[in-house]
Amino acid sequence: MRILLTGGAGFIGSHLIERLLGDGNRVICMDNFLTGSMKNIARFRDNERFEFIHHDVSRYIDVEPPVDYVMHFASPASPIDYLEHPIKTLKVGSLGTHNALGVAKKYKAKFFLASTSEVYGDPLVNPQPETYWGNVNPVGPRGVYDEAKRFSEALTLAYHRAHGIDTKIIRIFNTFGERMRHNDGRAVPNFIDQALKGEPMTVYGDGNQTRSFCYISDLVEGIIRLMNSNLNEPCNIGNPREMTLIEMAELIRKMTGSSSKIVFKALPENDPKVRRPDITKAREKLGWEPKVSIEESLGRTIEWFRENRQ
Ligand code: NAD
Ligand code: UDP
Repeated sequence: MRILLTGGAGFIGSHLIERLLGDGNRVICMDNFLTGSMKNIARFRDNERFEFIHHDVSRYIDVEPPVDYVMHFASPASPIDYLEHPIKTLKVGSLGTHNALGVAKKYKAKFFLASTSEVYGDPLVNPQPETYWGNVNPVGPRGVYDEAKRFSEALTLAYHRAHGIDTKIIRIFNTFGERMRHNDGRAVPNFIDQALKGEPMTVYGDGNQTRSFCYISDLVEGIIRLMNSNLNEPCNIGNPREMTLIEMAELIRKMTGSSSKIVFKALPENDPKVRRPDITKAREKLGWEPKVSIEESLGRTIEWFRENRQ
């Protein structure tokens, strides 16, 4: 297949390109480096099946045919990024999704949307099945991301229903791994970076809020299975092992052998108290579940952060 991947120079995108090229596909990576980098994709430069187009996908997208699949991953994803770029986040989720769907319609390509567990907001149901409609504050600081993704899901399914586009929607739960930026701002890279530097590890709130952390290779396998499935409606992909942020900070401190102190900082507004995917659908329809343990995945990520010190 010839695949257009928006946001390919980011953390998830660059791992996905590796897999798509490895499986024999052609990949056109489109990115404007808002939060991604050339460093993430430099490794593909010599592959003749790889193309790069520097472009902001919130503006009209012009690509030559054939395009068999459009995969829309472009969007700031870390809370500090979407708080710094609120309007760009809303635009890439709305205008960017519209443009990407337009390419799929024009070339009769399939369409894959990277959505998020944030569509569930601060959930009143735990774990979250795909049938849960969520608890989102549309005008809170996180609303720019949550509502952009909720709109992008609605638009994607409208294109499916009105134009017969073969759509897939993945709801990704917190995923981490190699190539996350040291200053990414999300919990795992922050804690690892702080622990390796011997700096205080910043836990927000009392640290009793929970998340369920998935390793990048498990996520990529879930993406590929969903891509090749006939599921048109949203599907959760994430690791159902739920832990508190304090547990995560302590585990990273232990695994890095660090003597960093844990310090408590203000909890960001509307920070979800719990988050855990119900992955029954992925298990039953895709035969997917995570394989890599939290200890092994943290071990690999810590190793990468050590070797790529900044
Ligand atoms: P990332 O910030 O590393 O990657 C996002 C990429 O999109 C970057 O390369 C950035 O430059 C690019 N981008 C942003 N706006 C753009 C625009 N207007 N035009 C072109 N490119 C643009 O983040 P990530 O963690 O790799 O996330 C990738 C996708 O997965 C996002 O859509 C995100 O919402 C989704 N997601 C990620 C997670 C996670 O835990 N990592 C969880 C849920 C959803
Ligand atoms: N968090 C934290 N310390 C940090 C960064 C994040 O305690 O240095 C908390 C954050 O408040 C949230 C959880 O870790 O409760 C996960 O945050 P992240 O930004 O990784 O992703 P989110 O799930 O909030 O999108």
